[in-house]
Amino acid sequence: PATSMEELVSLCKRRGFIFQGSEIYGGLQGFYDYGPLGVELKNNIKAAWWRTNVYERDDMEGLDASIIMHRLVLRHSGHEATFSDPMVDNRKTKKRYRLDHLVKDQKADVQARVAEGMGENVENFPALVAALVKQPARASGALIAAGVRDPFSGEVGDWTEPKPFNMMFKTTIGPTADEDSYGYLRPETAQGIFTNFKNVVDSTSRRLPFGIAQIGKAFRNEITPRNFIFRVRELEQMEIEFFCAPGTDEEWHQHWLDARLAWWEAQGVPREKIQILDVPKEDLAHYSKRTYDLMYDYPTLGHEEIEGIANRSDYDLGSHTKAQGELGLVAKVDENTDSIAKLTIPHPETNKPVVPFVIEPSAGVDRAMLAVLSEAFTKETLENGSERIVLKLRPHLAPIKVAVIPLARNREEITAVARAIKADLQKLGLGRVLYEDSGNIGKAYRRHDEVGTPYCVTVDFDTVGKGEDASLTDTVTVRDRDTLAQERVKISELAGWIQGRLR
Ligand code: ATP
Repeated sequence: PATSMEELVSLCKRRGFIFQGSEIYGGLQGFYDYGPLGVELKNNIKAAWWRTNVYERDDMEGLDASIIMHRLVLRHSGHEATFSDPMVDNRKTKKRYRLDHLVKDQKADVQARVAEGMGENVENFPALVAALVKQPARASGALIAAGVRDPFSGEVGDWTEPKPFNMMFKTTIGPTADEDSYGYLRPETAQGIFTNFKNVVDSTSRRLPFGIAQIGKAFRNEITPRNFIFRVRELEQMEIEFFCAPGTDEEWHQHWLDARLAWWEAQGVPREKIQILDVPKEDLAHYSKRTYDLMYDYPTLGHEEIEGIANRSDYDLGSHTKAQGELGLVAKVDENTDSIAKLTIPHPETNKPVVPFVIEPSAGVDRAMLAVLSEAFTKETLENGSERIVLKLRPHLAPIKVAVIPLARNREEITAVARAIKADLQKLGLGRVLYEDSGNIGKAYRRHDEVGTPYCVTVDFDTVGKGEDASLTDTVTVRDRDTLAQERVKISELAGWIQGRLR
């Protein structure tokens, strides 16, 4: 695995996985572009998630909802009021920080002095942040007195009171910019699932329990985007809302915890690199009955959230439904007089309409990519003493499945065979197969090790009957990324050989 974020960032740029967004104009913070290999890896991760969670189950439907949503969706979801992070400004540098990030970045003794100033126990970081938020007037003084430094200038800041900062991106819709003609870029994909609950139930005749899965972009105006693609402003999520009868929710919550850990393992992110955080009651979001955060051990960052698996009770559908008063909701919801739909489904036992409970496994594609890359990253010393970097990606995730390399790029008899092999392998539908004639063979091998190509197929003079050994005619060399073993395979058997190993 990678030992630092820097070595991943450098590999990603060098080999074309990830670039800074708008780079030729100086870059835009919190936005990244996925390059030729990044787009393949990302698509492969999403396809693996979809396969496991939609195709291989019989209790799931897919969805692709729009990104811009009605302002009332985000009002009744609770996002207008509560989707905010506390921020503080430094009056000296005019820089703005997320309060918890700022305090976390300070030295332990500074943190202790902040806690002292607030009269809180520093052992419990969330409690300290909560205290700072709850007593903003006192917080400003405590941060200054404790000598909290501005990470930008390195000097002690002149800190303002913490204020909530709503992270939703707003945009105007249509040609007239009147008061109500705005919508939001969704801050999570989940809301599109809740607003389509009735459409999906009516069009598929689903009964409880069942889920709706969605992959797509979400947007969060993070105060301090940082740590490469770990915290970005335009992100992608893979989310499931699994609807079940009240009373069966705890069992399903456990089911999804186990299922999701197994999926991560199958992507090469081992169980022992993920800590399960059973989020303490006092830190739970207001809608959550219980939440497990999966904390992956990222290089340089340490354990940070890669996926959240929440039991959201009947809060979401209860918030978006009409006739709330008649439905016996368990969650405390705000009044909704705007919705035109009753979001109920027959109870599997009584057949009476019920607002189901929801289990939500919500994973970030960008954070998945970082974890998958980090686990695959391997530095090896070879027998001859040289060092190589190799991405030991699971074959189903590899951006390029096979590279077909003609040993001489200006010999028509060799390139024609190589091109024909490429075209044949491409037809197998395994993903990208690359015709590779860009350099010498050693360089090609090194590049494909670094981008995780499982197999390199080389066409040489023996292949076309012009080498030393006539028995090698119509065979190619296949090189294995991990073992470095080279095997001679008949062209007629190559497709089956590759297919058997890439499954
Ligand atoms: P954090 O506490 O790290 O900000 P969160 O608790 O706000 O994350 P959720 O709202 O639970 O995150 O979102 C679900 C998933 O979406 C997260 O587990 C993460 O993988 C991903 N995600 C959330 N915010 C970002 C972001 N700014 N950049 C990249 N991925 C993100």
